[in-house]
Parts: sequence; C-alpha cells; structure tokens
Amino acid sequence: MASDNANIATAEQTSRENAEGLSFDRITRLASTVMQTKMAMISLIQDSGMPTLAAGPGVEELGAGQSLPFCHYAVNSDQPMVVTDAARDPRFENDAMVAGGPKLRFYLGIPLRTRDGATLGTLCTVDTQPRTPSADQISMLTDLARMVVNEMELRQMSVTDSLTGALTKRGFETRVEAERIRCQRAGFALTLVAVDLDNFKNINDRFGHAVGDSMLRSVVDVCRESLRNCDVIGRTGGEEFVIMLPEMPGPVAAKVAERLRQAIAEIRLPASGEMVNITASIGVAMLSPGQQTTQQALLRADIALYAAKARGRNRVVLDPAML
Ligand code: GH3
Ligand code: MG
Ligand code: MG
Repeated sequence: MASDNANIATAEQTSRENAEGLSFDRITRLASTVMQTKMAMISLIQDSGMPTLAAGPGVEELGAGQSLPFCHYAVNSDQPMVVTDAARDPRFENDAMVAGGPKLRFYLGIPLRTRDGATLGTLCTVDTQPRTPSADQISMLTDLARMVVNEMELRQMSVTDSLTGALTKRGFETRVEAERIRCQRAGFALTLVAVDLDNFKNINDRFGHAVGDSMLRSVVDVCRESLRNCDVIGRTGGEEFVIMLPEMPGPVAAKVAERLRQAIAEIRLPASGEMVNITASIGVAMLSPGQQTTQQALLRADIALYAAKARGRNRVVLDPAML
C-alpha cells in the first residue's frame, strides 16, 4: 500500500482539476485571438505521462482527454514547438489526427513549466491549414502560457499547506465533496479518519515551536507512507488532520486507522538531547452513498475522535454506525 507520493495533492492533480473546471477559458480565448485559429487549448500531463486536452476552444471538436501527437514533443522541449505543416513532417504525417480525422496541419505549443522545473502540459493552438506563426505571436503565446502557470501555482498554494504539504481545510473539503459525488455514483463508501495529536502543546512548550513544526511534518510523512495514492490528507487545524480513504470498506478503514495510530506513536524526533515522541487520537466515520452530507460525516468522525480523547487518548474510536 505504501507509495512514495501517496495522498498529497500534487501540483499536477490540482492543476488538472482547475483546468477541467474550465477556469482557463479567458486565456485560451485570448490565445485563439492572438493566433487567429479556432482551436487553442490547454493540455495537461496525465499519470500515464501523456499530455491530454483539458480546456479551451477546440477541446469539444477534438475531444476532451484526446492527446495530440505534437504535445508530446512540446512537453519535452525547452522551446515553443512549431509545426508549420504536419502533413510534410515525417514525425506526424501518418498520425491519425493528421492523415485522417480532423486533418491537423499547424501546431504551436508552449510547454507549461513551473518555477521549480515541473512540466504540467502545454498551451497550444492548432489549425487545419499550414501556417507560419510570427515572432510576435510566439512571444504572446509564451506570455499567455506563463499566465496559465502563474494561475495554477497560485491556486495550488491556496489548497496546499506550506508546512506539511497536506491539503488546506478548504482544499480538502473540495476534494472530499468531489470524491463523495464520484463514490455515490459508483455506489462505494468513503471513509473519513479524523486525527488530533495528543497534548501537542507540551511539545511546543518543552522543545520549542520549530520542533513542534518538525513533528507536524513527520506525522504527515508517516501517514503518507502508510496510505495509497488515492488517499488524501487535509490539515484541518493546527495539529488536526482528516484523511479521506475512498472506496474502502469500514473494517479495512478501521485497520488502516489503527496502523496510522501505531506509525505516529513510533515517530522519534531528536531534540535537546532527547527523543521526542507523540501520540494521536483518531475518530473514524463512513460516508455511505446517499446517506449523509460531507459535513455530517466529518462531524461524526470528530465526535468519534473526541470519544477517543475522553477514553484516554492514543486510540482509535469508530463511529457507532460502523460497528
Ligand atoms: P489535546 O490532547 O487535548 O488535543 O491537547 P493539545 O495540546 O494537542 O491541544 P491544544 O488545542 O490545547 O493545543 C494545540 C496546540 O497546537 C496549540 C498550538 O500552539 C499548537 N499549534 C497549532 N498550530 C501549530 C503549528 O503550526 N506549529 C506548531 N509548532 N504548533 C502549532
Ligand atoms: Mg486540536
Ligand atoms: Mg491536540
């Protein structure tokens, strides 16, 4: 179950959700005006590594989730990728999108690259006629691509907790709601695990705030190591977290929660010549399809958590509806 990059919302994931939410319409419309083409789109790299069309005029015509052969080259390039006539380019002339279907001929794609070098996809325009873009057009499209990346980074910051890398409360609740709708459609249950560190104030008081911060980071790291890729951690308060476990039956979720409790209790942080440790109280509730709202399920997980505190801390308590 362990995975290197489990359960933290990656920049790519959140960017994909943003673009799929059609929030980049204005930029892609501008790109289409600048290039005087009907089709200007954002493509985003999927888990498979393939960039696929996500937003902008042209997506409907070519198909959301469709991948353009050119984008694959563009995301691996440091330069704007220009194809003036795909039908005369040996790399593309036999591609289904060129030889058949939409008969694409022209492509200009700018890689969407973050400041730390991650590539998210492309801002690209295509046409069914061969074309040669001007230097001004390429430069304007490059500026628009930078705006797309800036916007994605800003949104990413608003949903990611900078200390631990977990989602913020807002980011987490948005993800849970989206997952609730998906699980409801598929008839799956979804489990919420509320975690509150025990007597955390003592760590700050005895070892200082910086050690408290390191402990918060370690807690998220060990949780991440024991979870699946699809699980999501939100930092919902100072030393409070909620973990969403999609498509997981109650008894399995109860075991996962117990494993998390143990993993947190095993953390040892060296500070002031001592080994600092911590425990957590955990409450678990299920969000059954069609039965409750996200807020109701979060509240039930919280009530179970407070029962865990009342029974002496460092334990997992299940919502009575799970028993
Ligand atoms: P309980 O077992 O009842 O949960 O006790 P507790 O001490 O964990 O709970 P309490 O709510 O009294 O204290 C939480 C502490 O968490 C107080 C606050 O200073 C600390 N805290 C909140 N956010 C941060 C943070 O970002 N960094 C650090 N180092 N401490 C934080
Ligand atoms: Mg608390
Ligand atoms: Mg606490």
